Amino acid sequence: MLGGRNFHKLIEDELVKISKNLGLNYDLNGIHVLEITRCSRLSYFERMDPLIDEFSNALSNIFKSSLQKLLNGITREYKIDDLAIYATVDLIKDNELIINFVPVSEIPDYPHPKDLLYTNACMYVFDKESGFIVYFTPEGKYVEFNISKSKRMFEQVVRRARILSLLLKEKKTPVVEPSELCFSCKYYQRCYGQQKESEHLLDVFGIRKKN
Ligand code: SF4
Repeated sequence: MLGGRNFHKLIEDELVKISKNLGLNYDLNGIHVLEITRCSRLSYFERMDPLIDEFSNALSNIFKSSLQKLLNGITREYKIDDLAIYATVDLIKDNELIINFVPVSEIPDYPHPKDLLYTNACMYVFDKESGFIVYFTPEGKYVEFNISKSKRMFEQVVRRARILSLLLKEKKTPVVEPSELCFSCKYYQRCYGQQKESEHLLDVFGIRKKN
């Protein structure tokens, strides 16, 4: 507090406001790959009845968006009948190589499936044969993974985009997609209700302790 003003809260509120303005803004026939490589239910809530981002989410949104701007990230549209799929690439090198950057706290041994789906979809949307995911930490460690183009993976993305678009039009909430991401999701309570010690999710994963 300084002079009666809570500057900590003021800074948090400002960053949350900036992050809100960075949200995706497409009509119901337009789906960004980001919305279908994460939980569809989360993407549905974000469009239909969003909760305000927590400070940490807001900060990572701003960071990711700033990085894309610095690297001249590009968004492109891929049309399939009346459906438009959008993808944003962080960097295109020599007009042939796609590179997406993912900030992490620890360098992974393998690419995360959602990042694989995302970069693979970018290779189709941008019609490129080479794609890389680069994971990097705040300390400057990094690792890159070369992604093999997969038609099957892209078809999965298209199918999920069609389903999400349909559910948005019909105002039907997608089913719960249990994963470890639920633990840090801002819609946890909406999906699983008030649980003591996350009992429901532990049941879902079959990892509840037996008495
Ligand atoms: S809690 Fe899990 S199922 Fe629910 S919206 Fe979040 S990620 Fe999806």
